[in-house]
This record gives sequence, C-alpha cells and structure tokens, in this order.
Amino acid sequence: MTIFSRIIAGDIPCYKIAEDDEFFAFLDINPVNWGHTLVVPKRETDYIFDIEDDELGRMMVFAKRVACAIKEALPCRKVGVTVLGLEVPHAHIHLVPLKNEGDMNFANKISDPDPEKMKQIAEAIKANF
Ligand code: AMP
Repeated sequence: MTIFSRIIAGDIPCYKIAEDDEFFAFLDINPVNWGHTLVVPKRETDYIFDIEDDELGRMMVFAKRVACAIKEALPCRKVGVTVLGLEVPHAHIHLVPLKNEGDMNFANKISDPDPEKMKQIAEAIKANF
C-alpha cells in the first residue's frame, strides 16, 4: 500500500480538498507554492501513463475541477500542471497556482509550512470545489 493509499484510507492525515469514487485531492505537504495540490487515483498505479485511457481522461477532468477551485480561491494567473512521480510510486498530478514561472520550482519548496495556513488554504479551495 502506498503512502497515498494510506492517506486516501484515512490512516495518515492530510489537508483534504476533494474526492469522488475514483480520485482524491489534497495539499502537498512540502509545497512549492501555497495551494500546491496533488490529484491521485484511488486505484494504485505507479506510472501515470500506465493508467488506462478512460480513467486517465476522467482523472484529468477531476484535476480540472480542482484547478478551477484553486484559481477561484487563491490569487494567481493560472494553475500549472506537472507530473514527476520520482518519489512516490502512486501516480499523481501536481497542481500549482502560478503568478510567474518561479512559482513552479520543485528545487525550492516552502520549508516547514505553517499548519494553520495550510488548513485555511485547503478550506478555501474546498469551498470553491
Ligand atoms: P513525486 O513523486 O516526485 O511527484 O513527489 C511526491 C510529492 O508528494 C512531493 O511533492 C511530496 O512533497 C509529496 N508528498 C509526500 N508525502 C506526502 C504526504 N504525506 N502528504 C502530502 N504530500 C506528500
């Protein structure tokens, strides 16, 4: 069971944004920018491009809904989309609110993000979902 499956199961806490039958969204615990969100399928697959076409399409539509909520909740120009998957072997899409290119720098994460601020941001995004 991956760490993301344990989050989805409720065994590990997270700053939850949204879920449906197939997908789950929550804040990245080490955000590159405030509002950095992960979208994951409930069905475990390591590599995103091993996901079957229909499911991958639905995942992107779910991510779009989350991105729209992020854009409503937080001041940004656009919401950037990235897939890395080098650390956690459970496919996920990174959504990051952007004002400029530097807001999507994975080598420069916010250190020790304030839990209260993370909670407020999650609530704000959730309210717009
Ligand atoms: P990658 O697999 O390279 O896309 O990176 C995995 C991402 O998951 C990183 O940005 C981590 O900060 C994030 N991450 C790892 N564990 C957790 C967790 N328990 N809660 C939220 N995000 C996490």
